[in-house]
Amino acid sequence: MSRPAVDPRTCPTCGDPLRFEILDDERFLVVWSCLNCGLVRTTEPT
Ligand SMILES: [Zn+2]
Repeated sequence: MSRPAVDPRTCPTCGDPLRFEILDDERFLVVWSCLNCGLVRTTEPT
């Protein structure tokens, strides 16, 4: 109850905090990357 089960800003693989980078401000395209294990995730609407 004290900590959330799923945090979109946390790496699903190793649990480290993800770093985000805005690629396209108008289209709201964001890349999330984990410095620890190298996981890369992109987020875009639809
Ligand atoms: Zn990771």
